[in-house]
Formats: sequence, C-alpha cells, structure tokens
Amino acid sequence: MRLSRYFLPILKETPREAEIVSHRLMLRAGMIRQQGQGSFSWLPLGKKVLDKVCQIIREEQNRAGALEIMMPTIQSADLWRESGRYDAYGKEMLRIKDRHERDMLYGPTNEEMVTDIFRTYVKSYKDLPLNLYHIQWKYRDEVRPRFGVMRSREFLMKDAYSFDIDFEGAKAAYYRMFVSYLRTFERVGMKAIPMKADTGPIGGDLSHEFIILADTGESGVFCHRDYLTMAVPGADTDFTDDAAIANIVQHWTTPYAATDEMHDEAAWNEVPTDSQVAARGIEVGHIFHFGEKYSKPLGAKVQGPDGKDHFVSMGSYGIGPSRLIAAIIEASHDDNGIIWPEAVAPFDVVIINMKAGDAECDRVCEDLYAAHEAAGLDVLYDDTDQRAGGKFATADLIGIPWQVIVGPRGVAEGAVEVKRRATGERDVKTITDLKAALG
Ligand code: ATP
Ligand code: MG
Ligand code: MG
Ligand code: MG
Repeated sequence: MRLSRYFLPILKETPREAEIVSHRLMLRAGMIRQQGQGSFSWLPLGKKVLDKVCQIIREEQNRAGALEIMMPTIQSADLWRESGRYDAYGKEMLRIKDRHERDMLYGPTNEEMVTDIFRTYVKSYKDLPLNLYHIQWKYRDEVRPRFGVMRSREFLMKDAYSFDIDFEGAKAAYYRMFVSYLRTFERVGMKAIPMKADTGPIGGDLSHEFIILADTGESGVFCHRDYLTMAVPGADTDFTDDAAIANIVQHWTTPYAATDEMHDEAAWNEVPTDSQVAARGIEVGHIFHFGEKYSKPLGAKVQGPDGKDHFVSMGSYGIGPSRLIAAIIEASHDDNGIIWPEAVAPFDVVIINMKAGDAECDRVCEDLYAAHEAAGLDVLYDDTDQRAGGKFATADLIGIPWQVIVGPRGVAEGAVEVKRRATGERDVKTITDLKAALG
C-alpha cells in the first residue's frame, strides 16, 4: 500500500476527550472515528487490525471444533419473551419498533436466537456435541460508555454457544473453549489470565473471565505470579482428546486467580506474599456454563441414547475483539505510539522514503516495495513528500513492527537502515542482503 493513496487521518493534537492511552492512540493513529456516544467507525488502519484479530479468533474457534454462522443484529422481542429476558434485561437493551409496531431489539447477546436455531433442527444426541459461533456487532446501552472502543455501545463480539446432552458433555465443551481462549490471546501477543468469575444463580465453578493486566483496567484482580510465565498449549493440541484438554484446564486453574467479585481472602493468604499479584485488569473474554437456563424455556431438547428427551446443557463464550485491540495497545505502547505485536499489526513493515523525488531513493524504495510484496508481506510504502522527521513520527505512532529507512546517503553506498519498532534497534543492511533475506 502506498501511503499517498491510503486514508490515514493522523491527528497532530492529542484529543482531549480521550482519558486513556489506547483511546488517544487509536484516535491519533487514524484507526477509529467517534460517531456518537459509544459509537465508532473503523477507518482503514483500524479495520485491518480488527480483521487480523478476528481471523486469529476464528482459526482458534475452528481448531477447537466450533462452527461459524452469522445471525442478525436485530432480533424479535418474542423470542426474548419466551426466555423471560425481554423484561429482565433492563435498560442496557436497545428496544426498537418496526413499521408494524412490532417490538424488536438490537441484540446485546444471542442465546435465545441460537437456541431457536438449535431447537428447529437438532433432535438427536447423535448430532452432539455442537458449538456454533459468530462474530457480529452487539449493542448495549451502557450506563457509562467510555475509553473509546474499550466500553462502547456498539461493539464487535465473537460469541459461541455450545450444546450437549448432559453436564459432562457441556463441561468438556467448556474446557475446549477455555483452551481455545488461552491460544487465542497468546496468538494476538497478549497474556490473558483465566480468573474465576461469578456464576450467580447458576452455581458451579464453570465461569472464567480472561483478564489482561493493565493499570487502566476496570476490575481489581488477584492472581499468583506463576500465571505470568505459564506456557500456553501449542498448535498441536488435540481438541478431540477430552482427558488431555481437562489436564490443561486443571493446570491453568490450580494457582489462585480471581476478580474482586470472587476474591477469597483466606485462599489468597495462602499464596506466598512474593507471589501475590494484586493489580487491575481488563476483561477481554468470558466463558460461562449455564446448563438448561435457555434450553428449558425455549424447549431445546434432543433424544438421548435412552430414548428419552433431554434438555440440552449449554454454555456461552464471548470475546470482544474491539475491546481486545484497545487492551493490546494499553499493554504495548511507548511515548511515541503503538507497538503492535507482529500477529495483529496492520502492516508487517513500512518503507520510509526519506527523500521522495530523489531518483535513487525512489528507485530503491520501489524495488524494495516490490520485493516485500513478492515475499507475501503486508507492506506500507511512505512515498509522500512529508519531511523525514514527520515520517518517522508517523511510523512510530502507527506502530508497524519493522521500518526500512531509505535515505540518499545510505543508498549511495547500497545500504538502508532497518529499525525494529519494539526496541528502537537500528541495523544498517545492504540492499542486496535485505532482499536476499526476503527470499
Ligand atoms: P463488562 O463487565 O466489561 O461490562 P460483560 O461482562 O458485560 O463486560 P460479556 O457479556 O461477558 O461482557 O461479553 C463478552 C465480552 O464482550 C467481554 O468479555 C468483553 O470483551 C466484550 N464486551 C462487553 N461489553 C463491551 C462493551 N461495552 N464494549 C466493548 N466490548 C465489550
Ligand atoms: Mg457489561
Ligand atoms: Mg463483566
Ligand atoms: Mg462478562
């Protein structure tokens, strides 16, 4: 992508309305534009990151056996009347009437709708286990939308829903999602710690929030230091092996970890003081087993091996990709801007032409641009006529992991500089070597 043909509305000034660093940087880097209270457009740079994050989530959902579908954002109130939640949900639900005066709503979540799909088609235990997910916009009329896309009213969610014949099956489904989440957050370059979360009237211990530690987080959290160094299961994890998956979950739930809602002082005091991490955290994911809460009122049942009908046991599993992106920035930035983990960076590399218009600089840049593209890399070429200082500032602000800096002096000697955004390290490389390394 040539920057001269891109749409990257960088802000010079720090936006005053933005209270936290991720919100400021997303606005300054031209990733998002606020359209109203808690509502944001994603501009090209932001949309690229959003797509990369969603693709990783999708791959890890699929790996764990979930199947992608797509449900509408606008739902009929009748379905929610069946579950009893139309009245129970409260003011966070945006209620709408269509031209026939029918009650509609903008979905804050999809348990009812997915259960309706299930009850329509699935009648036998032989079709289980089943886990359906989608990545779709949600609307919640938050009391206090704030911090940009961290807590907005319209936001993207990956929500998955599992259906099983009994509790044992539902537990195995929950465990698969637990491990899938460990892998997902690791792949986007983050350490997210699964913490015991409230199960309310459902009871049991099958509810975990995945928390990224950050000073600006809205939850107080308590965990054992071991979590900071625990190795996440690899891509070869066998999601069909229930015992192996259960072992991983066992390992990841043994050290103490709880949000303030679930904090247990007695258990906490058993953690050695030098291993206690009391911090703030951001909820980026939440998995929850709720059994027959929706299958019963909505009549979602299957015939079991015993010939009898059983209400299915369900769970739901959410990740907020838009909030996750803000959390990544909270965890990975410096005074100059964003530092993207490579897996979610909008571009892999930016080529900076320090003297656009200079025949040699232009020639080398074009050559390197083509070579990077041919190597399958996502490359941004800053071919604009801005001064070099401004280009460096932009490259640092938008956080591209690698910068290839092309200036007249280096080019005269057949060399360019390669800078790593994360560390600021610079290496002089000959153009020949750089191209050879691209293969
Ligand atoms: P919170 O406690 O922050 O209000 P929640 O518990 O209401 O979140 P869930 O219903 O568990 O959220 O939804 C699953 C995921 O969706 C959350 O873990 C979070 O990543 C994301 N999410 C929820 N609300 C928002 C929001 N207003 N803006 C952005 N992402 C959100
Ligand atoms: Mg909420
Ligand atoms: Mg919550
Ligand atoms: Mg939650």
